[in-house]
Amino acid sequence: MSERFIAEHIKTLKPSGIRRFFDLAQSMEGVISLGVGEPDFTTPWSVIEASYHSLERGFTAYTPNAGLLTLRQSISRFLDTRFQVRYQPEDEVIVTVGASQSIDLAFRAILNPGDEVIVMEPSFVSYIPTITLAGGVPVIVDTYEKDAFKLSKEAVEAAITEKTKAILICSPNNPTGAVLSREDLIGISDVIKGHDLLVISDEIYADLLYDDTYTSMASMEGMKERTLLVSGFSKAFAMTGWRLGYVCGPKDLIAQMLKIHQYTIMSAPTMAQYGAIEALENGLSEVEMMKESYKQRRNYVVKALTRMGLSCHVPGGAFYVFPSIKSTGLSSSDFAEQLLMEEKVAVVPGSVFGDSGEGYIRCSYAASMKQLTEAMDRISRFLDKLKAKE
Ligand code: PMP
Repeated sequence: MSERFIAEHIKTLKPSGIRRFFDLAQSMEGVISLGVGEPDFTTPWSVIEASYHSLERGFTAYTPNAGLLTLRQSISRFLDTRFQVRYQPEDEVIVTVGASQSIDLAFRAILNPGDEVIVMEPSFVSYIPTITLAGGVPVIVDTYEKDAFKLSKEAVEAAITEKTKAILICSPNNPTGAVLSREDLIGISDVIKGHDLLVISDEIYADLLYDDTYTSMASMEGMKERTLLVSGFSKAFAMTGWRLGYVCGPKDLIAQMLKIHQYTIMSAPTMAQYGAIEALENGLSEVEMMKESYKQRRNYVVKALTRMGLSCHVPGGAFYVFPSIKSTGLSSSDFAEQLLMEEKVAVVPGSVFGDSGEGYIRCSYAASMKQLTEAMDRISRFLDKLKAKE
C-alpha cells in the first residue's frame, strides 16, 4: 500500500545478509552464535563509570558538532603515540556515531554522481550500499585465499579508470582478518599517489592485531593529505552499543564532512563521548587483555577447523576466521543454513561479503572458549554427517 512512497533506489537496496542469519538464530533455542561481529566482553568498567559520572554531573546537553574537544585531543594523542600520525584536534577530527557514520560521511562528502570507488572484497557489508547511496559506483577488486586475502597494487592499478576518485581499504579486514603490511601499503600508496586518488582507510580493527605492529595508511609517506582515517571504539574497547567512532583527515575535507554531520546528526551522544575519553586515556591495558584472549581463541579455532579438513587462512587481526567450505560442495548459504538447522551453530555465508566470498564462511571467535569448543564439536559432527551422505 505504501509502496508508492518508496524511492526507487531504496527498493533495490538489499537488507544485510548478516542480520538475516542473526535474526533467524535468535528465534531458535540452543543456538551458538559465531555470527555477529562484536566482542563478547562488556565495556571496561572504568569507561562505564566515566560515562555514568558525566551524567551525574549533569553533562546531558549537545557537545560541539565535531565532538568534545577533550575527546578529539585524546584521539589525536592516541593516534600519534600508537601509529605515528598527527592530527589537529581542532579541525582534523570529527567524532561520529560509530565508524559506520564516518564511512557514510566520507562517501557523501566526496562523490559526484558516477564517481568510482575501488573496494576490495570480501569486505564489510556496508561499503557498497553507502557508496551507492551517495551516488557513486563501487568497483570491486577481489582478493583470494592463495594471496592471504591481501589487496595487491597490481589489482588496484588494473581497476583504475578516469572516473576513479577513491579507494577503500580495510586492514585488518572483516571478514578475512587479512592484514596489509608496511610493504603492501608502500606498493598500494605509490599507485594511489600516481593517480592522485583519495583513500578511505577503515582502521577499526587496528588495535586487534596479533602478530605484528600496525602500520596506518595515513603514516605512509605523502599519504596523510590524501587519507581519511576511519576508526572507532566498538571493537577494541568492546563498545559496540555506545555508537562512537571518528574520522580524521585533511582539514578542508573534514570541514565539508562536518557540514553534513551538523545537519544530519548534530553531535554524537554526549555520555558516550565522556566514556570514550576514559577508554583512550586509561583503557589500553584492558584492550591488551582482551586481545590476548582473542589470540588464544583464534589459535584454537584455526587449529580445530584445519583438523576437520577445512582450509583456513590464519587471520592476522580482527576476530574472524574465514575457512573454505568448498570441499563440501555446498554453497556458503546452504552450508550456513543447514549448519544452523541441523547443529544450531550460526555462522555467516561468505557470499554476503561479495562474490569472492562464495565458498567460505565467516565465524567470529569473539565467543567464550566453552561456546567455541562446543561449536567446533558441532561443526565437526555436521561435516561427518555430510561426508556420510556422499
Ligand atoms: N568497519 C568494519 C570493517 C566493521 O567490521 C564494522 C562493524 N562490524 C564497522 C566498520 C562499523 O563499526 P561501528 O560499530 O563503529 O559503526
